[in-house]
Amino acid sequence: MEISTAVKKVIHYNVVQNILKHYQCPETCGAHCCSTGQIHFFEDEVKVLTVLNKEKAKNITSEGLYAGLYQMNTPCSFLNTSGRCEVYDSRPTVCGMYPFKVNTSGTSLGLQPCPIGFLIIRDFAEWIVDTFSRSGVTDEEIVRIKEEWQKNVESYEAELTEFHFKPLLKEMQIPFDELEMLSMFLSSKKYAVHNIESKKSA
Ligand code: SF4
Ligand code: SF4
Repeated sequence: MEISTAVKKVIHYNVVQNILKHYQCPETCGAHCCSTGQIHFFEDEVKVLTVLNKEKAKNITSEGLYAGLYQMNTPCSFLNTSGRCEVYDSRPTVCGMYPFKVNTSGTSLGLQPCPIGFLIIRDFAEWIVDTFSRSGVTDEEIVRIKEEWQKNVESYEAELTEFHFKPLLKEMQIPFDELEMLSMFLSSKKYAVHNIESKKSA
């Protein structure tokens, strides 16, 4: 099995896809995630990118990284001048899951409060409050949970305001089992499908 396929299983990549299909990257974001920081790829993904465009894949390096891990400095060579990914249908794992990010816990994913990430956080807060409201806890407890999550949402909204300028963001950690439930919650609400135009293929 390819390493990227094995990793996708571990990090619940399919669940992430089921969540992300409900959201849309705003054009105003300018594909920020493809333009800043470093982007990491697995060896089998580098092979695919090399077949797609050997010249652009030359900008991928493995220097100083763990065996089997590669890096593209940003802006990513596969990002075209219109801010679209030229290899969208074959995009590597980290690209397909952003604003979710792998962490070292093994039990959760991080969620960056970028424009889409913030919308997911807001919906996650709604799901938490909804779940508690149906669980038979007291009205006082529901009010307390609502206030707590309102504050959480406001603090991530503050991160979003500075999103394009901050090198590090306070990211939300979402346990894998809660990811599954959030996905079901979003599907049950029959959210409109928003296209992820700013990262989609040219
Ligand atoms: S995932 Fe979308 S909204 Fe978030 S930084 Fe990337 S392009 Fe922007
Ligand atoms: S989504 Fe495409 S353009 Fe963006 S970092 Fe990944 S490969 Fe590069």
